[in-house]
Parts: sequence; C-alpha cells; structure tokens
Amino acid sequence: MPSSADLPPALAAIEAELAKLADDGLRRTRRSVDSPCAPEVDVDGRRYLAFASNDYLGLANHPDLIAAAREGAALFGVGSGASHLVSGHSRAHDRLEARLAAFLDLPRALTFSTGYMANLAVIPALLGRNDAVFADRLNHACLVDAAVLSRASHHRYPHLDLGALERQLATSPAPRKLIATDAVFSMDGDIAPLPDLLRLAETFDAWLLVDDAHGFGVLGPQGRGSLAHFGLESPRLILMGTLGKAAGVAGAFVAGHRNLVEWLLQRARPYIFTTAAPPLLAHALLVALDLIEAGDARRAHLMALINRLRSGLSQARWPLRASTTAIQPLIVGDNYDTLQVARALDAQGIWVPAIRPPTVPKGEARLRISLSAAHSEPQIDRLVAAIRALP
Ligand code: PMP
Repeated sequence: MPSSADLPPALAAIEAELAKLADDGLRRTRRSVDSPCAPEVDVDGRRYLAFASNDYLGLANHPDLIAAAREGAALFGVGSGASHLVSGHSRAHDRLEARLAAFLDLPRALTFSTGYMANLAVIPALLGRNDAVFADRLNHACLVDAAVLSRASHHRYPHLDLGALERQLATSPAPRKLIATDAVFSMDGDIAPLPDLLRLAETFDAWLLVDDAHGFGVLGPQGRGSLAHFGLESPRLILMGTLGKAAGVAGAFVAGHRNLVEWLLQRARPYIFTTAAPPLLAHALLVALDLIEAGDARRAHLMALINRLRSGLSQARWPLRASTTAIQPLIVGDNYDTLQVARALDAQGIWVPAIRPPTVPKGEARLRISLSAAHSEPQIDRLVAAIRALP
C-alpha cells in the first residue's frame, strides 16, 4: 500500500476530510441486510426488529408483488435496453402511467426511475435563470438540488411559515415562480398546509410542486395521497410521488395537466437522457396500485399502530414530534446522546436510525421511528418498553 504521502493531492485531501468526518462522529456506514425489507431483518447473523424503512404499507415483500415481478421478467425481460424516447418505453410503462393518472384523478402521469430524478426533472424544465423557487426550509434534499440545477433564484422560507412565503412571493420580480414543498416532511412527519399553499400559488400566479413521497399510498381515500387528502384540484398543481416507499417497489411519477406532462416528456433531461427503468418494475407496480387502492385495512392498522406508539411514548423521557403520520421522530437533541440511544436499542436487537445534522437542524438530532402496516402490536409494545426502560 502506498502511504498517503504518495497520493495525488486531490486524493490526500479526501483522505483528510474522511478522517475529519470520523473524528466528528459523522462518518456514515452501511449495514448489509441479508433478508427482504420487513419488520424483522437479518444483519450480520443477527435478527433485528426494524423501524427504519419507508415501506409504510408492508408491500416491499408482498407475495403478489414478487409474483408480478417474476411475471414481468418473463414478459419483458430484465432490462429496458434504452431510454424512453428511443426504444425503452414498454407497454408496461404505458399501462402504469394510465393507471396512475386514473387512480390520482389527474389528466396525465409520467414515470421516472427515482423520486430524486423526478424532482430534478421538474424544476429545471419549468424555470430558468430569471425565475424563482420558493421552498420550505425542511424540504427534501432533492428539491434543493433541483432548484440549484434550474439556476432560478432560490428562496427558502422557515418551516411552514406562510407569512414569510407570502412576503417573498409579493416582492419577487420573477416572471415564473414555483412553490415547492414536501407534503409529509421526511424527517418530521408533519403535513404541509397544502390548501393555504395553493391559495398563495393562485394569488401570485405560481406553480405548486407537491412532493408526496411520504403521503402517496398512505393519506387520502384509498391512499390516493396528499392532494386527495385535502381534496385539492388545480391546473397549477404538480404532483410528484415515489413508488419505492408505500408502493413497495421503486421509481416515481409526476402527474398533472396534460401540457405540463407533455412538456416534461419533451424537455426534462432526467427523463430523456437515462435508460428507462426495467419494465418488470412497472408491471409489478400495477399490482402494487391494486393493493394500495384496496388497502384500507392496512392503512387502518398503520393508524392504530401510530396511536399505540404515541400513547406508549407520551411519558417518555424524550418528546415525539407532533406527527400523525408513520414518521414518528423522537427528539433527543444532542448528536452523541442520540447515537447512544440508538446503540442501546441496537444492543437489544432493535434498529431505529439516528438522524443527525445536516439532515436535521443542529440540536435536533433524533431517532426517526418509521412504522409499517406490516408491524404488529406486540412489536410496537417491544419498542415502547425498550425506550421507556432506557436509563
Ligand atoms: N422526496 C422525499 C420527500 C423523499 O423523502 C425522498 C426519498 N427519501 C425522495 C423525494 C427521493 O425519492 P427516491 O428515493 O425515489 O429517489
């Protein structure tokens, strides 16, 4: 092995940065899971009770989806072979888009390989250098990156502060404006006031991009998501949803007005210049949508688990955020203390991720407890008892 003194300067600089991350307790590692995504998972020969996924309806390992993925591979093979506009767009993608639009009661939907790419597609396709994005400060990183990529000016308003947003909108000279928000905030679990945001979008002639990564499949009648939850309709609404969370597979969609979706197909670079996702995933997602639509019992069970966890932890040493969704953050505060709590649970075979800055604001490190309809009541009780027994 050459010593670091022999390294080219760029690599030596990275080595020093990595060492600093480790010193600051911020160097991340991965765990390799040897079993499907489920409430109990195998890691390094140990079985864990996990509260760490976004598989809110427990579909990621559902036998009907596994069968549909197999059938999709038999029908369409494994790879799509090309981008959508060349030859990679299959009948399965087509059916999925039509099914999504009908399910969401929106004119048209377009599918993407990931939610990250869908957000990167939308904002730069609609806005350019002289335009403006208005974004909640706690939005997901990919909305931030999308705004930067568009070169529009980027105004971040304090979390849920509609007064601040209104002032920013009122003073903006930008010809084209877009408000971007998580519908359910990924690290807090709270729900954005979408009706108020739409009212502001209408007043100031802005688009409203709603990132429903954590609402689709869970909120609204039949799990139709956050817009349906609030009963919102408007041609200026752009709905982005992901298909690797409640839908249990992978991918994402953008849905809205026909002109908007056709424009994305013509202009959105993360749609045009990438290989289409394997059609077998689209084929499996058609079954996932059936399960979501017929999933009232799963959603009711999930809601009962959320209430059980919240009442079990109401007297706990650390407060839960005021969240009514499957994302239930327990705010510990200090980074080191948060890691200690996660480690103490780990020692008992319970996996809850510790989330630290910069993912969350300084001093608000937390355990991000995420619940799934696949969890059972005794599993929630085990987590509650373990947290309550911590010193
Ligand atoms: N938006 C939000 C709010 C998210 O939480 C995530 C993923 N964690 C994404 C977008 C990105 O979706 P994907 O994982 O499909 O890239």
